[in-house]
Amino acid sequence: MNLHEYQGKSILKSFGVAIQEGKVVDSPSQAVAAAKELTTETGTEWYVVKAQIHAGGRGKGTVTETGSHGVVLAKGIDKVEEIAAGILGGHLVTAQTKADGKKVNKVLIAQDVYYPGESEPSEFYMSVLMNRERGRNIIMYSTEGGMDIEKVAEETPHLIFKEEIDPRVGLQGFQARKIAFNLGLSGKALKEMTKFVAALYKAYEGCDASLFEINPVLKTSDDRIIAVDSKVTLDDNSLFRHPDYAEMRDKTEEDPTEVEAGEHGLNYVALDGNVGCMVNGAGLAMATMDIIKLSGGNPANFLDVGGTADAERVEKAFKIILKDPGVKAILINIFGGIVRCDRVAQGVVDAYKNMGEIPVPIIVRLQGTNAVEAKKLIDESGLNVHSAVLLQEAADKVKEVLA
Ligand code: GDP
Ligand code: MN
Repeated sequence: MNLHEYQGKSILKSFGVAIQEGKVVDSPSQAVAAAKELTTETGTEWYVVKAQIHAGGRGKGTVTETGSHGVVLAKGIDKVEEIAAGILGGHLVTAQTKADGKKVNKVLIAQDVYYPGESEPSEFYMSVLMNRERGRNIIMYSTEGGMDIEKVAEETPHLIFKEEIDPRVGLQGFQARKIAFNLGLSGKALKEMTKFVAALYKAYEGCDASLFEINPVLKTSDDRIIAVDSKVTLDDNSLFRHPDYAEMRDKTEEDPTEVEAGEHGLNYVALDGNVGCMVNGAGLAMATMDIIKLSGGNPANFLDVGGTADAERVEKAFKIILKDPGVKAILINIFGGIVRCDRVAQGVVDAYKNMGEIPVPIIVRLQGTNAVEAKKLIDESGLNVHSAVLLQEAADKVKEVLA
């Protein structure tokens, strides 16, 4: 599950990670009130207004309607309202969004933290993630933080360091110090960074994250270390033990059809092909998509109906697949291990009849318990449904009906 910047920061803060304080609002007038509340006596007259969407690259992104960027500095509280108005309600297009961008419902307001002191501030990059090959978490970091980290990774990858953590002992003090040292820090900033890294890793483990990306980690001009941005991804499988995090889910950021499928216990992922796939089990779904591709077709989706493929579920699955106008044929590939094939076949027939007419041809391959009875049910249904026994045969039939 992906979180918004402000949500990620609130989790970081709860684990003792220093963050740039801010307030999230959904109207320009609230933005001004937030800026006033956040103003500290020692602070500057600069504020920052930040679009909250599930995508990075906001600073360089553009709001289609107004031309504003997604992260904008404001000199003085008076400017905050105008800038917030230029971002809220618009569609922000960044290198990480689709061409039509993402609607901005909320902005985060913060007071600038870069220049309270005398020295030059610096922006670092830091992420924590799992290296699956090694079965270990790693901390990636670089002195070249800020908005061009993708370019750094491509052109000067040696400037990105990696520190691997042994899960048996966790992050060691010397590792945190090494990171701070490699970032070129000394004195107070080195100590602060060591603390920052330790707290960040504790947060990563404590909240069951699968990714933390903090870019930039800021060294302020008075040598404090602060998270200015946050990208936090939590492991969905752990949400049952973090009900407060589960509530942070923002469904408006997700594909509406995928959300609807999830509510019915269907595992649906939209793709951009023309063959709708209804399958039980993720492994079989993968194999089905492979054979569609090998036979010259293109999967339009991945839909796993799970263990109980009765008429109601099959009907729901049909409806979800047919929401995609790109779908020109549907391939149903079910292995009846626990679920009986004749029950699924009956489900297909009932769902079809219930829905009246299904505008695209359907190819059904049912293998396993009672497969023979199932095929008979399909063949005698009189509907625009074709049965197949072998997977290759099914894929060939798909090709045939598309030709
Ligand atoms: P992103 O573009 O989506 O990664 O959004 P960020 O939160 O990283 O903001 C983009 C850039 O704006 C950062 O890399 C900073 O350089 C700059 N920025 C963000 N907040 C502040 C701030 O409070 N003060 C100053 N001076 N710059 C900021
Ligand atoms: Mn950033």
